[in-house]
Amino acid sequence: MDYSAKIASNVAAIPRSGIRDFFELVQGRDDVISLGVGEPDFVTPWHIREAAIYSLEKGQTTYTSNLGLLSLRKSISKYVENFFHVNYDPAREVLVTVGVSEAIDIALRALLNPGDEVIFHEPCYVSYSPSIVMAHGVAVPVVTTKEDEFSLKPEAVAAVITPRTRIIFINFPTNPTGACASRADLEGIAKLAIEHDLIVMTDEIYSELRYDDTEPHLSIASLPGMKERTILLHGFSKAFAMTGFRLGYACAPQPIIEAMMKIHQYAMLCAPIMSQNAAIEALENGHAAMIEMRNSYHQRRDFLVKRLNEIGLDCHTPGGAFYVFPDIRSTGLTSKEFAMRLLEEENVACVPGSAFGPSGEGFLRCCYATAFDDIRTATDRIERFVGRL
Ligand code: PLP
Repeated sequence: MDYSAKIASNVAAIPRSGIRDFFELVQGRDDVISLGVGEPDFVTPWHIREAAIYSLEKGQTTYTSNLGLLSLRKSISKYVENFFHVNYDPAREVLVTVGVSEAIDIALRALLNPGDEVIFHEPCYVSYSPSIVMAHGVAVPVVTTKEDEFSLKPEAVAAVITPRTRIIFINFPTNPTGACASRADLEGIAKLAIEHDLIVMTDEIYSELRYDDTEPHLSIASLPGMKERTILLHGFSKAFAMTGFRLGYACAPQPIIEAMMKIHQYAMLCAPIMSQNAAIEALENGHAAMIEMRNSYHQRRDFLVKRLNEIGLDCHTPGGAFYVFPDIRSTGLTSKEFAMRLLEEENVACVPGSAFGPSGEGFLRCCYATAFDDIRTATDRIERFVGRL
């Protein structure tokens, strides 16, 4: 059978994730140090795991409300109010999802008609452009540059707004660059959204992982006039080291949550109840463990940035997330060649910048959610590799 004729054209058109493809090469190799997959090296804190176990012990093995347990939505609402300074009604304005991944997908599907445009900044998380295309939208990337520390300038956004623009989609701190947004840039983007009557989707999954106390995290949802046009996406994977629990949430005005919930209820029904119980524990009692992990990432960031610059790979100091994004253009290799040869010759896995969009070419993503000793050894190996080029 000719299966190519059976696959939907918008799905056939999207590439597989460059991260996953690359990591299939890593499987089965011994002694590889991975600065690759963006996943905490910490096991989920014990008291959070215990909450999941306790949930099972109590026989809580059922579906929950489609929106998620009300007790969890109350905890989310309280947490978001304390941390982001925006107030959401837990009964109507919060939806618990299967990771931020699902929240991105259903938000786009809920809002886009075929041909509607979504502006986002690139290099960016691998799912953004494919998720827009799968929702029959048109992906409109705005390239951010090393010279601007990968910040998103309102002028660059303004330049690509058209009558078909529906959404501005932002992610700060950013995967893969670690970039953070300044208040002025967020205010400029908010002004554009209001002037052009656009929705803003903001993926703030790394918001707790900020390292420079001078500028605390600011959510665009908290700016004047923005709550009514913002979908705030957040989850538990990164700050609480809960990737395997597959839990995230969206906070937004009730009609948007209602539209997202309709897709969620037919496609997913609800998030797993034991993960939801663990998430309540994370929000209510997980702060100390989260700060401990963050402090450890902070030390690793400083070490890795220093070493990469010593090696001659120009690397800015990112304000958040757990990635650095060194410039490898001085080596004369493409990012894929660099990453492949580094893996083959020195057993260090990093992700080619091109996996995060064409504008990531010439860069490498190194994740420092990896044991300190491994980061030290990896940088020694990178130094040896670059020295040989
Ligand atoms: N958004 C960003 C920016 C990410 O980096 C990731 C995972 O790496 C996700 C969303 C997906 O997160 P989740 O595990 O909550 O689906």
